Amino acid sequence: MSYDPNNIFGKILRGEIPCHKVYEDADAIVFMDVMPQSPGHALVLPKAPSRNLLDADPAVLAKIIPLVQKVAVAAKTAFAADGISIAQFNEPAGGQTVFHLHFHVIPRYEGQPLKTHARNMEEGPVLAANAEKLKAALGA
Ligand code: AMP
Repeated sequence: MSYDPNNIFGKILRGEIPCHKVYEDADAIVFMDVMPQSPGHALVLPKAPSRNLLDADPAVLAKIIPLVQKVAVAAKTAFAADGISIAQFNEPAGGQTVFHLHFHVIPRYEGQPLKTHARNMEEGPVLAANAEKLKAALGA
């Protein structure tokens, strides 16, 4: 399968549909997941097109992982989390639903299970407030 630029994250990257943006630079964007599995669930995307990890340029991966780390550290502070889960799914059988490479950064709390993946839409004002919290913790 090759990269299809009409995926929903491709549209966000081109500014064709909105997102609750936390951070952007020449190579990457970070925004809130609209169906968070835990409050503060964010997505970190390289701008370079690839479906997922399997077809990504290693040079792109080398640049994106330090940003995933920064967002994870900031999210732990911003949302007073006990831990952070990083998730990344590849192809439908691997649980992937949007086919532009992204890393999930998910705040975790002792004894609290995750909500179901990509199931319940969060209210816009909640996502906006969480984006601001994460932005502040990132110093972005
Ligand atoms: P994956 O299954 O790893 O491809 O994850 C895709 C994620 O994107 C899911 O967690 C969805 O909740 C999330 N998602 C889908 N559409 C949007 C959107 N328009 N803006 C932000 N997050 C989205």
